Amino acid sequence: MKLHEHQAKDLLKSYGVPIQEGTVAFSVDEAVNAARTLYPNATGKEWFVVKAQIHAGGRGKGGGVKLAKSIQEVEERASQILGMQLVTHQTGPEGKKVHRILIAQDVYYPGASEPKEYYLSITLDRAKGKNIIMASTEGGMDIEEVAEKHPEKIIREWIDPAVGMQPFQARKIGFAMGLEGEAFKNFTRFILNIYKAYIESDASMIEVNPMLKTSDDKIIAVDGKIDIDDNALYRHKDTAAMRDINEEDPLEVEAGESNLNYVKLDGNVGCMVNGAGLAMATMDIIKLSGGEPANFLDVGGGANATTVENGFRIILKDPNVKAILINIFGGIVRCDRVANGVVEAYKNIGNIPVPIIVRLQGTNAEEAARIINESGLKVKSAVVLKDAAQLVKEALQ
Ligand code: GDP
Ligand code: MN
Repeated sequence: MKLHEHQAKDLLKSYGVPIQEGTVAFSVDEAVNAARTLYPNATGKEWFVVKAQIHAGGRGKGGGVKLAKSIQEVEERASQILGMQLVTHQTGPEGKKVHRILIAQDVYYPGASEPKEYYLSITLDRAKGKNIIMASTEGGMDIEEVAEKHPEKIIREWIDPAVGMQPFQARKIGFAMGLEGEAFKNFTRFILNIYKAYIESDASMIEVNPMLKTSDDKIIAVDGKIDIDDNALYRHKDTAAMRDINEEDPLEVEAGESNLNYVKLDGNVGCMVNGAGLAMATMDIIKLSGGEPANFLDVGGGANATTVENGFRIILKDPNVKAILINIFGGIVRCDRVANGVVEAYKNIGNIPVPIIVRLQGTNAEEAARIINESGLKVKSAVVLKDAAQLVKEALQ
């Protein structure tokens, strides 16, 4: 589950991580009130940043992060950003509607030194079975871009989860980033606290980009992206309550309610498969046959008529779908049960406007083929996956 920036910062703050202070607002009025109370000893000369809260990065470049030099400018920026359809390189061309904004303190104020941005993240390195901290002096830039253009500028430090993060590791990263004096000391505390937050909140990823060294050598999280492991949400009720359904694909939400593992994609061939591995292989073969998968859908081991019907309904709600490929290997689930599910769904849903190609293999496959053939449905059957792909190709033409 992804958190909004303001939620991520609250979480980090509760672990003693200094953040760019701010208040979330859902309306222009709330934004103005937030701005009025943001500075404890306000003189009226303070600057603010107004930041769109959506579950995607690249908001700055997309026009979703704006500096405001007075309360009146906060009001203007807030009314521009709230309700806008924000397009970034992570949202897709349709963008995401902004329902909430963060009114934050401007932390790039002038001083003894120039403010400097850094990159910092923690995630799991599955291959090494350790947590990995990545850091870079190229803050503000996407880490993918840094990896491509300046791979030598990425600092990596692996943390053994059984041992935990050691202070020497924090110092090692700080030295590698070229930090000195107060900023160096502040950084070691900063990273040790972020690591603690990462472990205790069961995060699978924390990214702070930019982490800022202010002109007076404070180290501050200016941005915060946190992913919480869904499988651990049951023990983090507070975090689970932060879920924002507005940010999720409505079909994925509906699929989740039916216990279907569904991920919406951009292609035209809907697929219904049991098992994540087989689903991946099916998506590959759809691509090889010249189609593009419209979704990933794993109906799981316990697929029955209802699951299959729910799966069908969700796939059909996607207007891009031009054909459906059902690829089930009957291992735990019996093929005849799935076949009955397909027939039932077909009857209940009524007219299904796109061709359906079915490949049922394994336990009771012959029985399944008979059920489908005798149902009178215009479904095409295949035994070998390659033939199924060929049928998909023909259906698309
Ligand atoms: P992202 O574009 O979605 O990653 O959003 P960020 O939270 O990283 O903000 C984008 C950019 O806005 C940052 O890289 C900064 O350059 C800029 N920014 C954020 N906070 C401030 C601030 O307090 N003052 C100024 N001047 N710029 C800021
Ligand atoms: Mn950022």
